[in-house]
Amino acid sequence: SEEAMIRSEKLALIGQLAAGIAHDIRNPLTSLKGFVHLLKAKHTDYVDVMIEELEHINYVVNEFMTLAKPHLNYYIESKIEDLVQSVIHFLQPHALLHNVQIQMSIDQVLPPIFCIPDQIKQVLINVLKNAIESMANGGFIQITFRNHANQELVICVKDQGIGISEDGLTQLGEPFFTTKANGTGLGLMVCKRIVEDHGGNISIQSKLNEGTTVEIELPLRKRVSIES
Ligand code: ADP
Ligand code: MG
Repeated sequence: SEEAMIRSEKLALIGQLAAGIAHDIRNPLTSLKGFVHLLKAKHTDYVDVMIEELEHINYVVNEFMTLAKPHLNYYIESKIEDLVQSVIHFLQPHALLHNVQIQMSIDQVLPPIFCIPDQIKQVLINVLKNAIESMANGGFIQITFRNHANQELVICVKDQGIGISEDGLTQLGEPFFTTKANGTGLGLMVCKRIVEDHGGNISIQSKLNEGTTVEIELPLRKRVSIES
């Protein structure tokens, strides 16, 4: 449809802009961080705020970077359970801090997927971070898998968090939609973009105060990289 066209053009444009912005911001940011750390001895309070703000810019740029460099990567046969396991390991400190336990259960032999592993890891990180952040008092995150007739593999991430309002559900994945004081509203947009590049699909079900389930559906057929 026309709307979908405009939407995908917009996303492509954001990707291009991101490439430029990210590279232009990175170097001065790194050098600023160095100088701020040198300043710290004299003006601790102000400088702590400055460092926090710099970290936030750094975080936003890093989320954008994923959009900016898809052509540097290629598809390889991967074991999804290994990718999930390494992301769980990576997020363990963040989860512990929020009193959250992440459980992965596998009740079948999973077929390999063809993917760009770093990008799928990025998707898992963004989705799991949202799940962790949704549970102010801690809780469980369950990760399970479904094999759809050897056509698609579905990764389900289920949390017991605050859930998403009906209004919120319609805005998910829009750039800059966030309900968090320190949110970027970029995480899900990046996820959507990556999963769609992989020929897959993301769907989210949620009930306020009960929890959210994110389903990441990835095709199992072999995919090859297109040089650009
Ligand atoms: P951010 O996390 O920086 O806010 P995201 O794009 O990752 O940006 O998420 C956008 C919004 O979607 C969040 O602010 C939150 O309102 C909602 N959201 C996403 N995942 C969840 C979840 N698992 N539970 C509750 N709300 C969620
Ligand atoms: Mg997020």
